[in-house]
Amino acid sequence: MKKICLLFSFIGLFTHLFSQNKKLLIIGLDGCRADVVNHRYAPTMDSIIHLKNTAYSYKMRNERRTMSATNWSSLLTGVHFSKHKAKNNRKFYKGDFVNYPPFMKYLKDENPELKCASYSTWGDINKYIMLDYLDDITNANKDLADSVVENKVLSMLKLPEVYDATFVHLEDIDHNGHLKGFSKNNATYTDAVTRKDSFVKEILSIVQERKIKYIEDWLVIITTDHGGRRIGRASGHSFGMINPNIRQNFLIMNGDSVNSGKIIAPRTIDIAYSILTFFGVKIKPEWNLQGKTIGLKD
Ligand SMILES: [Zn+2]
Repeated sequence: MKKICLLFSFIGLFTHLFSQNKKLLIIGLDGCRADVVNHRYAPTMDSIIHLKNTAYSYKMRNERRTMSATNWSSLLTGVHFSKHKAKNNRKFYKGDFVNYPPFMKYLKDENPELKCASYSTWGDINKYIMLDYLDDITNANKDLADSVVENKVLSMLKLPEVYDATFVHLEDIDHNGHLKGFSKNNATYTDAVTRKDSFVKEILSIVQERKIKYIEDWLVIITTDHGGRRIGRASGHSFGMINPNIRQNFLIMNGDSVNSGKIIAPRTIDIAYSILTFFGVKIKPEWNLQGKTIGLKD
């Protein structure tokens, strides 16, 4: 009997430790079109898609308003634009993130011990959406280069203790799209994609080591806010509501909790909901979330 009790205590302890060891990393590659996430331009991301613990889509539906502020808001809050009201980048400050907070708030309400971080090249994402719920940020008052943010993320991941949920935003791909066109025929754009793919490779290698060394259960999400259009001239992604190159986006979810294979008809608003499911948070109706759980095992 004593042995059985000990066994159950051990299982209990292990389960407890394991549940504390869930870790989330979102790598947000602003303005990365789905058709450049392939073997030629993004070999690492392409190879992850084929792993047994990856769920993916090249057709994740974003908001009809195809601006960055709108879609990062939808991704982080799990509600459509009609609720969070972040109409465009200029009106970001008008977003209602009190009634529709980012998923970090719900994580912390559920478990105040959880620590969240956001390393964003775009200060406004931190400033307007997440600031109240973050234990570490890059900067909320100015924009930063991708290299600064990337170094910060890499340093953090090499520490013995990491944040439980980390959001990363990199703007290099979008920047090059605006300069010369969002297209696989524009080498400036695809080179930026390849640079970010190398960063993803480095990150995943560290995450893999951590899984073994610290017995952490990681969910890594790599995605974007919108695609883009036009070749060879200054162009963009605004008002792209019927353009598939802007509205249909890539989504990669990797981890041992992931149900491998293609995700059917995901939407940007499903990501926050799925993260809460991953952490075991019971979704309350009064939060008015509009997504559903995608890409995870039952
Ligand atoms: Zn964007």
